[in-house]
Amino acid sequence: RSAELLARQAVRESNARTYPRRLPIAVADAYGSFLRDLDGNTFIDFLTGAGVLSLGHNHPELVRAVTAQLARLTHGLDFPTPAKDAFTEAQLSMLPEPLRDRMKLHFCGPTGGDAVDAAVKLCKIATGRGDVIAFQGGFHGSSHAAMAVSGLVRQKAPVANGMPGVHFFPYSSCARCPLDLAPDTCSTNCATYLERALKDANGGIALPAAVIMEIVQGEGGVVPAREDFVRRVRDLTRELDIPLIVDEVQTGGGRTGTWFAFERYGIEPDVVVASKALSGIGLPVAVILYDRRLDVWEPGAHIGTFRGNQLAFAAGAEAVRIIRRDDVLGNVRRRGEQIAGRLAPLAEKNPWVRETRGLGLMWGVELADPRDGRPATEAARRVQAAALRRGLVMEVGGRDDCVMRILPPLNVTADVVDTACSILADAIEECCL
Ligand code: PMP
Repeated sequence: RSAELLARQAVRESNARTYPRRLPIAVADAYGSFLRDLDGNTFIDFLTGAGVLSLGHNHPELVRAVTAQLARLTHGLDFPTPAKDAFTEAQLSMLPEPLRDRMKLHFCGPTGGDAVDAAVKLCKIATGRGDVIAFQGGFHGSSHAAMAVSGLVRQKAPVANGMPGVHFFPYSSCARCPLDLAPDTCSTNCATYLERALKDANGGIALPAAVIMEIVQGEGGVVPAREDFVRRVRDLTRELDIPLIVDEVQTGGGRTGTWFAFERYGIEPDVVVASKALSGIGLPVAVILYDRRLDVWEPGAHIGTFRGNQLAFAAGAEAVRIIRRDDVLGNVRRRGEQIAGRLAPLAEKNPWVRETRGLGLMWGVELADPRDGRPATEAARRVQAAALRRGLVMEVGGRDDCVMRILPPLNVTADVVDTACSILADAIEECCL
């Protein structure tokens, strides 16, 4: 029955569809960390709606909160409502102390990309400057501005005409150092390079409207930034009065073990973009949180019909309550350590495993061909298919599509993590010979 629906989809839907091409299942229902297809097969879901389902599928308390809200009010534009007020309060309460009183929220259209657009627009208006600095390998969304600041060379090429101006700089990835420097000889040369370009009055680049960065590049292949790199970018942007936008669309909402990943790096951004996990149950909501002194919007400067999804607000406020009550962030850290421990031997055992890396419950296993060191794109595809056959849904990411991505619900249990890691290890063993 899955095959039948997949075939109908191929005829009726756009060619741009992605997930079902590599994960050929039609989903009937889901619960917690599990999905079931139309043929009754159950899978562990370590894709979790691309990182949105922080409390898993259909969390009963979230379902209750959403159902109660459904009977009251579903859509509220940008009028104040009790559900929105509770959501706003919950979001601000999760910010670290100094930012809690300093930041405001702007509700954006329903997706992360729209919130990225809003962040870029806000910084352009606030600074009166034009271009943005972004990092190689970053991903920020599919709308025009969000795509412009993403490092998606291939997807951007046919639509690059007229895109906002962006300067790309190397990201803090020692595994992919553009200068091929060994990690132990490097003292954040990428930050030095950025600093020199910005401070070189004769031949550098003009001050930008903003610097936008992910703390852990997600779609770029699960690349956590070095702490010293992030700190130096923060110091530099502060020194030069450039707003720093941290894109926490994927890392935000607890994914890395703190509510936002920037907290682990000891920095304070000027603008935070958040979306995916905020409702906890996959209802669309996207916001930017920003320093009050940047609140230069004119009324109507960034609007959208779907800025008032009351169901998402009700779920999001309830999700924060549950995350606190159940110490879900503690679970993220413990399960993250469990995953780290299970993945480490893979690299020792199999020469195709180039690196395992991650933070909290966001992990990647990068595969490379041991014969020539090239990205093992085909092998990664085979591993994904083999894992699916064994009952594990996981995404492949990274610039060369060779990073197996582990993105469980944040309340996943130790047993499920254990089973999923065994499936991944078996799939790698089967496909990487
Ligand atoms: N920023 C980051 C870091 C993301 O990972 C994504 C989505 N993967 C986006 C922005 C775009 O979000 P959306 O797909 O909801 O527009």
